[in-house]
Amino acid sequence: AKHNGRGNFQFFSAAMHDATTQRIKLEAELHQALERREFLLHYQPKLDLATGKTSGFEALLRWNHPQRGLVPPLEFISVLEDTGLIIAVGEWVVAEVCRQLGAWRADGFPIVPVAINLSARQLEQDDLAATIEQIVTASGIAPALLEFELTESMLMVNPDAAVAILGRIKALGMRLSIDDFGTGYSSLAYLKRFPLDALKIDRTFVRDLPHDSDDAAITRAVINLAHSLNLKVVAEGVENLEQLCELKRFGCDEIQGYYVDRPLVPARCFIRADSAPLLG
Ligand code: C2E
Ligand code: CA
Ligand code: CA
Ligand code: CA
Repeated sequence: AKHNGRGNFQFFSAAMHDATTQRIKLEAELHQALERREFLLHYQPKLDLATGKTSGFEALLRWNHPQRGLVPPLEFISVLEDTGLIIAVGEWVVAEVCRQLGAWRADGFPIVPVAINLSARQLEQDDLAATIEQIVTASGIAPALLEFELTESMLMVNPDAAVAILGRIKALGMRLSIDDFGTGYSSLAYLKRFPLDALKIDRTFVRDLPHDSDDAAITRAVINLAHSLNLKVVAEGVENLEQLCELKRFGCDEIQGYYVDRPLVPARCFIRADSAPLLG
């Protein structure tokens, strides 16, 4: 048994050493990624269920790793947060979205607002609104073309500070929405403290529509309550026509998901004609 224990310990230790080495390597690579221009954004459209038109896009971060290729955010966002690199990368995202909006405008495309995901670390920065204002002013892009997505849990860490920061961003003329709604603990009534424009229903509630009657009831209730609080509702993760129809029946305003489109490279964003066909 002793022998086994020791063997296990050595094995475990080697595995730990491996994980630590990998983590250090990942951090070092991420430190260089920004200046090496390895980050890029994909854009996923939101479909307005009333008009059948693209009402906006969400910018989603990708890392084009020199050896591994395109790395999804779940594999590196938490490292950016732990190291504080998310502050610089977050600023790059805002600047890049403004640059892209300018490029689309120059190419004559019909410009719609773009939503940007914020992280908890960014919301801890007292000068977040001022930083955003600086970047957007320098770009010459209309502030109304930007929207920011935050999660409930981010707002609940320090609600008073969050109210102040969001108030400043809102005063700049930008839109604010709650991401992944329903996965946190806040009530809609509590959320009313924040100057929000929209609420995105998390895709876990959409996944089993229309068959799961609990999810259907929750979704319908959230939509009705949000509307009574003057919030638009976006449903995330819509993957089929049945889900779309049910959400439309419930009065949901916009949908996002693979059924409409995956996150796209900028050059593909305006290729698909606005699609009444999707609406059946
Ligand atoms: P999120 O903000 O909830 O973004 C939605 C995620 O769901 C995206 O994953 C998107 O590709 C995926 N998705 C979209 N439609 C569907 C669908 O129909 N079915 C399924 N199963 N998934 C769908 P992605 O791009 O991997 O991003 C993951 C998360 O990383 C985001 O979740 C967001 O929390 C974070 N993230 C992405 N970009 C940024 C960024 O620029 N800054 C920060 N702070 N976080 C970001
Ligand atoms: Ca989001
Ligand atoms: Ca989400
Ligand atoms: Ca999410």
